[in-house]
Amino acid sequence: MATAGLSVDQARCMILHVCDRLIASKDVLTQADKSIGDGDHGIGMARGFSAVRQKLEAAHCESLSELFQRIGSTLLTSVGGASGAIFGCFFSGAARGLADCATFDAKALSVMLISGFQEVRTRGKAAVGDKTMLDALNPAVVISAEMASAPLYDSLSAAAKAACDGMEATKTMIARTGKAKTLGERSLGHADPGAISVHLILQAMSEYAQTLVCKDET
Ligand code: ADP
Ligand code: MG
Repeated sequence: MATAGLSVDQARCMILHVCDRLIASKDVLTQADKSIGDGDHGIGMARGFSAVRQKLEAAHCESLSELFQRIGSTLLTSVGGASGAIFGCFFSGAARGLADCATFDAKALSVMLISGFQEVRTRGKAAVGDKTMLDALNPAVVISAEMASAPLYDSLSAAAKAACDGMEATKTMIARTGKAKTLGERSLGHADPGAISVHLILQAMSEYAQTLVCKDET
């Protein structure tokens, strides 16, 4: 696995693990959005990733691109709120980036994060530093590009750590977009809910890759 990366079906199983994590994190995300928004982020993400789980549970995808496109379109139609469009865009953009990737390796991780990031930037029009999910995504984009030739589990682990640091850094930012914008300085001290979701997604992906490495070693 270390050199070859994940097959399309292993990537599908990785996404099912992501779905379980987001569904289980409903209350954490709700609390985070109650602090600086309207409290619907956990409900929306749990609903969206339940729908993704249902769609992919017994699905066969021909390519990584098809897999990620299905995630994007399902989130777009099921999450609601700003994050339905934002996370839907992210996965649809990621799917375009994965068009030439046969397996999900560190290079594929890097192109999927960059193309997903660019799609959100273009569609959502927020900038890095505005206190959004982009602030967790951006450091993960940077480190995964640097580690594009590393084993997948190393680059995923580094990307998850970078997203965690980026999410933590949103606590020091004053919101300049979305519902939290009206709070101004009162948004200080709270992490952005979408940034928490980005960290959870990458952390779950990293955990899945780690379990495959452990299986290889036994
Ligand atoms: P809503 O803001 O409509 O209530 P959610 O609470 O589900 O939607 O999602 C809010 C999250 O969406 C924010 O924490 C932020 O990370 C993300 N978000 C909102 N607008 C943008 C944007 N323009 N660009 C990037 N991310 C955004
Ligand atoms: Mg909200």
